[in-house]
Amino acid sequence: MAPAQSTINSLHVAVIGAGAAGLVAARELRRENHSVVVFERISKVGGLWVYTPESEDDPLSLDPNRNIVHSSVYDSLRTNLPRECMGYSDFPFVPRREHDESRDSRRYPSHKEVLAYLEDFAREFKLEEMVRFNTEVVLVEPDGSKWRVKSKNSDGISSDEIFDAVVVCNGHYTEPRVAHVPGIDSWPGKQIHSHNYRLPDPFKDQVVVVIGNFASGSDISRDIMAVAKEVHIAARANPSKTYKQLPGSDNLWLHPMIKSANKDGSIVFENGKIVQADTIVHCTGYKYYFPFLNTNGYITVDDNCVGPLYKHVFPPALAPGLSFVGVPWMTLLFFMFELQSKWVAAVLSGRVTLPSEEKMMEDVTADYAVRDSHGFPKRYTHRLGAGHVQYLNWIAEQVGAPPGEEWRYQEIEGGYVRLATQSDTFRDKWDDDHLILEAYEDFLRQKL
Ligand code: FAD
Repeated sequence: MAPAQSTINSLHVAVIGAGAAGLVAARELRRENHSVVVFERISKVGGLWVYTPESEDDPLSLDPNRNIVHSSVYDSLRTNLPRECMGYSDFPFVPRREHDESRDSRRYPSHKEVLAYLEDFAREFKLEEMVRFNTEVVLVEPDGSKWRVKSKNSDGISSDEIFDAVVVCNGHYTEPRVAHVPGIDSWPGKQIHSHNYRLPDPFKDQVVVVIGNFASGSDISRDIMAVAKEVHIAARANPSKTYKQLPGSDNLWLHPMIKSANKDGSIVFENGKIVQADTIVHCTGYKYYFPFLNTNGYITVDDNCVGPLYKHVFPPALAPGLSFVGVPWMTLLFFMFELQSKWVAAVLSGRVTLPSEEKMMEDVTADYAVRDSHGFPKRYTHRLGAGHVQYLNWIAEQVGAPPGEEWRYQEIEGGYVRLATQSDTFRDKWDDDHLILEAYEDFLRQKL
């Protein structure tokens, strides 16, 4: 752990967002004696997990003036990770049917259960009292050694306040990335991004092409295949000759990427197959987006690389006053939000110190170089993947927290393998009961 300073500061801190990241950030900041205001644009806690049947009026979300709908959750969504490893470390995501019969006790529960868990968490730690609901942050900028935060509530009332620090937790699954398909401008069919997908009904009897085959692409194509005539998945990761039917279906086909979309409505895949398609569903991920942030160009988002950020959290020249919780992906997200939040809270109080700006920049540059040497594209800068255990345990060490439990890491690893190899059954069939047992033994020990 970095050497502690002798004085402990209690600061006035703004947190942007009351999703899974902002809630735990607020809890950790308050635990460290900071005074906290959480700004939340909508009327509830839970962020992404607040499902709404509404979607945006522009189905590809390209129009900058469209109505923004925050959530990207679809009606049938169940978690893509087992619940034991998904929760915060000291508030396990266990079934709670003893409190409410309607709760979902499945290992991979529905989105409603995740929202209920986050609401339980907020209630347990009395977090809502720190939240200003229906209040959108419209500007964050440095003001001397402090931070100016301008916000606007749903009654149109604006406020302009000064904070010692700002923690950005605005989520990054709202601003869609859309795949470039040659010829798409003259293709006559419909297009939609998964951000705006809710139910399969509009795709009844259609031929649908889904681009992308990670969690959302795989789920949505299986959702749609129940009503559609045919579903064809195009995925960049597939070798160019790929053409196969997926297990558990008779109308779901896997292809490599699309070669072209044509005026006559046809879609030609790189494997030479041609289909007459009605709709393309882009399950191609999201962009980091911080429309409220004015750092005079210091922080940029370039090809989905938010930089510079020391360990994906602190911008070296603006730290510790500005920090980001929740930027990396392909890891145990709630657990990571918790550790990053503890780190931010401890650095702000002076209990833990950061390296010099120069040293932090050296670290950022070295991290970029390593990723480059492995051939990772820039847009994968914040993808932790195989390095996630080292990353999480490193932050835990900074703040004197225990490293992640072995069962937690093994569950996510096995979970991802099952997701990739048995996409039709991974949520209901598994072979790691021994890890569930270890997890529950740990949860019980916490209670004693
Ligand atoms: P969010 O939950 O998006 O919260 C951000 C909050 O900030 C929102 O409430 C928003 O209203 C608010 N906000 C944004 N801008 C402003 C502003 N300017 N002013 C005020 N408030 C603002 N993760 C898992 O661990 N397991 C899963 O099974 C899983 N499934 C997923 C499925 C889908 C389809 C997607 C898209 C993601 C999934 N994730 C999953 C990842 C998920 O995003 C994280 O688990 C987590 O919920 C993100 O939390 P967050 O707080 O970072 O962001």
